[in-house]
Amino acid sequence: MSDTVTSMATEQTVSVRTVDERVRGYDAAVCGAELHRWIRELYPICRSITGDGLRTTLRWIQQHVPLQIREVASGTPVFDWTVPDEWNIADAYIKNGAGERVVDFRRCNLHVVSYSVPVHRKMTRAELAEHVFTLPEHPDWIPYRATYCQPTWGFCLSQRQWDALPEGTYEVCIQSRLEPGCLSYGELYLPGRQGEEVLISTHACHPSMCNDNLSGVVVSTMLARAMARVERRYGYRFLFVPGTFGSITWLARNEDRVGRIRHGLVLACLGDAGPMRYKRSRRGRAEIDRVAEAILAEGGRSAQIRDFEPFGDDERQYCSPGFNLPVGTLSRSPYGTFPECHSSADDPDFVRPEALADSLLTCLRIIQFLERNEVWINTQPKCEPQLGRRGLFEPAWAADAARVRMAIQWVLNLSDGQHDLLDIRERSGLDAHLLFEAVDALRAVGLLAEPPVSISHPALTSGCE
Ligand code: ZN
Repeated sequence: MSDTVTSMATEQTVSVRTVDERVRGYDAAVCGAELHRWIRELYPICRSITGDGLRTTLRWIQQHVPLQIREVASGTPVFDWTVPDEWNIADAYIKNGAGERVVDFRRCNLHVVSYSVPVHRKMTRAELAEHVFTLPEHPDWIPYRATYCQPTWGFCLSQRQWDALPEGTYEVCIQSRLEPGCLSYGELYLPGRQGEEVLISTHACHPSMCNDNLSGVVVSTMLARAMARVERRYGYRFLFVPGTFGSITWLARNEDRVGRIRHGLVLACLGDAGPMRYKRSRRGRAEIDRVAEAILAEGGRSAQIRDFEPFGDDERQYCSPGFNLPVGTLSRSPYGTFPECHSSADDPDFVRPEALADSLLTCLRIIQFLERNEVWINTQPKCEPQLGRRGLFEPAWAADAARVRMAIQWVLNLSDGQHDLLDIRERSGLDAHLLFEAVDALRAVGLLAEPPVSISHPALTSGCE
């Protein structure tokens, strides 16, 4: 079954040359199944903000796109931070008096607090309790914890597991190494016709959890694969980074490059059953904010738009005041809004193929709009051009002829060199694909032309909104 899905998905994308074709030919069932299969492949790996689990994940992405893996040495200063020591773990357990593993890292990597320093000694249950974390309100779930800043150690157990351990002496062992090494991140740049870039960033540092954060990893990977195969107006830079540390490190190493970032999206939590949500960039009305809002409002979907706030994901770094990049955040249920978050309940069953497929299509449609958001000139601006003799008054070729004609009239009226397609979308309320159909039809009969280079419009000027 999975081989069939792979070959179909590959075949489907090989002949596609434009983002338009990619959106039109999108097969949600095929893509959703493949995205979910990818999550199941990546699920067992013990990732952290550094170390071999992260590298293994980045190498897995390299099987699908030509990702560059960058390594930055521990101790490197990055703005107010320092690249941390590298953490790796071989094994961990708690054994009872009979020598049985009552807690076993090999069964679930969430059992060990990420970045735990090594420990191997015997202790009483009361001593062990100082280092045990549970979720009493969800007694069957194992919590996810990390200790990046404190050199300590800990175990995460379900409440039921902990309650079942009698008084006695336990052998506690964490075979980890915390020592100078590297922070790894993945970077893929796909050049476009213009020098400006679209930044797509996702964190890739969580151990076995799916919505946060494997959903972002697999959707970004398939999006990168799709974008690698089509013509591009913009360059696309995909980053797979350890959360916070990775985006800070990338910004510190690429400060001279960020001026090229015209639009950006942080992708996270894209596989649960919740509606799509978009969190605006700090600028609030950047082109990416307006495009994402327009796309999420289409098709009668119950999508939600939120203003920027300095909490959440790596947008905290991209939208920090010293950068203030036009980077929004696309998710379904974001971090902290679903009870399964940062626990063993965020497993492969929690994420759904249809939600993953819908998230990827939403990304593609946002990118399609960014690529197509241009200013056009009506070549017959004095009164309405005669549409009937050009076959445009009743565009029988269109699936929705009445609305395509409305789109044709909106595009003709506002294509005065002062309005881009996004302006027309907001003024008309018509779905973007209708405007694209109208533009294609009008260009084909010579009623739209590219503006002379002397026309300056906010959409055409670089960098700042
Ligand atoms: Zn998280």
